[in-house]
Amino acid sequence: MKINIIGAGVAGLSAGCYLQMNGFETEIFEKHTRPGGLCTSWKRGEFTFDGCIHWLLGSNPSNPFYLLWSELIDMSSIEFRNHEVRMDIEVKDNLDRHGNNVFHLYTNLGKLSAYLLDLAPEDTAVIKTLIRSMRKIQGYEIPPMIRSVPGLLPFWQKIKFVKHLPLLFFLMRWEKQTNFSFARKLKNPFLKEAFQLLFDGDEMPLLIITLPLAFNDKMGVGYPVGGSLNFARKIEERYLGLGGMIRYNTCVEEIITENSHATGIILSDGTKVFSAITISAADWHYTLFTALKGKYTSKTILALKEHRNLEVYYSVFLLSLGVSRSVRELPRMLRFPVAKDLVSPDGTRYSRMEAHFYTYDPTLAPEGKCVVTVKFYSKNGDYWIGLRRSDPEEYKKQKTAFAEEIIGVLEKKFGGIRDAIEETDIATPATYHRYTNNWQGSTQGWLPGKNLIAPSPVDIVIPGLQDFYLAGQWTQPGGGLPVAIKSARTVAQMICHKYHKPFVVSK
Ligand SMILES: Cc1cc2nc3c(=O)[nH]c(=O)nc-3n(C[C@H](O)[C@H](O)[C@H](O)COP(=O)(O)OP(=O)(O)OC[C@H]3O[C@@H](n4cnc5c(N)ncnc54)[C@H](O)[C@@H]3O)c2cc1C
Repeated sequence: MKINIIGAGVAGLSAGCYLQMNGFETEIFEKHTRPGGLCTSWKRGEFTFDGCIHWLLGSNPSNPFYLLWSELIDMSSIEFRNHEVRMDIEVKDNLDRHGNNVFHLYTNLGKLSAYLLDLAPEDTAVIKTLIRSMRKIQGYEIPPMIRSVPGLLPFWQKIKFVKHLPLLFFLMRWEKQTNFSFARKLKNPFLKEAFQLLFDGDEMPLLIITLPLAFNDKMGVGYPVGGSLNFARKIEERYLGLGGMIRYNTCVEEIITENSHATGIILSDGTKVFSAITISAADWHYTLFTALKGKYTSKTILALKEHRNLEVYYSVFLLSLGVSRSVRELPRMLRFPVAKDLVSPDGTRYSRMEAHFYTYDPTLAPEGKCVVTVKFYSKNGDYWIGLRRSDPEEYKKQKTAFAEEIIGVLEKKFGGIRDAIEETDIATPATYHRYTNNWQGSTQGWLPGKNLIAPSPVDIVIPGLQDFYLAGQWTQPGGGLPVAIKSARTVAQMICHKYHKPFVVSK
């Protein structure tokens, strides 16, 4: 039985692997020339610039996602780096009691606890509660993140979900706590400011940082040496090894529907490719409103389109530099205040900047050289996408001018950067949109809603449309690679269930 899959990102490739393992004949259609989608890297001269993974959930067996990745690739063939510090945050108005202005968010909970207690003995009780919360997270088994599908789980397995109730109660207790509300509990001015700056001055649920830190401590969220494209290629290799087929440079224009069944796809050259089932592992908005022409919607889908339920995850302006210095003396990643606010051409104002020095991955630059990146999040990806379309020259001018300003700040802060630049690359939200089709240049699908444990309004099936499934980052707020693989696996399980086949995973 033939299954067409749109998109060779991590979700499309993973869906293909699982379906091939279960005896289905699949074909992936990918508009780009390479696998990976957002999970990518690219070459500029002697340098490799990475556009994705800083943290891979499941990088060692302490994390349940390791088992999932291991179903597709040999995880022991990848060298993971576990950073000692998750981020360094330069605080603006206060110094710690040793006269330092940089806050270190250590990934080892023992070290973090000792560091915080040393800085703020007056906050001992609050710090201990925080560390205890992360230790508690480590004790819970994390349940599947994608909603259970009616009929997929037998009753006895559903009952097993009861064991996750303590985690649910824990999340309910912590979900309203934000970095701001936590900071208010602290007496120490340096620590107070540092917690307020955890998300560059934004107020976000504290769980967004405590959950990953709990996994960091167990070394379950590492960086894969070799970069993101290498990682995606490993899944591509497995898929091809399982007999899957990929057509690169092939854009799907339309999904064919007959009597409320998806029956095939139409490619940009007009070719029709029919199949029993279609999976879109491509952008949510493109799939529903371009490929399906808005014919299959619901109140929930329309509310999502109008941003009434969830916001689209930020896009990014990513400046990558290849420099002829090792920069080993600099921190891996520093967030710091800028003397004068930077205003992006898209209107976003930044009072802080994040500089990233890839000193820990020797495969990205020749000996004695390094890749340096600066990433700015933007909620106005459409500005760049529109400008590139309407006035490519002006687009180029504006992105280059903004990049120049950023280089100026880097130079002032760290020195010896400008003259050392050998390669420059500027990716804007328009770049992400051009290469992956993601709506507004989104880098992770939907932003998590304010209520982290509320049922997700997004789904992997479309009401009224049979033989069609969605997979990928848009199927669960927060997105990311874990959602890509998990949603793909769930879709494969649903298809097996539909055809009364036991779902198997082959080595
Ligand atoms: C800067 C950055 C940093 C990130 N850091 C992390 C991180 O540290 N950890 C983490 O877990 N996640 C991270 N992410 C998010 C992660 O990369 C994505 O959530 C994940 O790769 C999404 O995979 P996907 O397969 O669902 O979608 P995509 O990667 O978007 O794949 C969709 C694919 O479909 C193709 N396509 C789209 N439309 C069509 C069409 N009409 N016809 C044919 N093909 C089509 C696209 O070209 C693309 O290849 C990061 C993302 C970015 C951009």
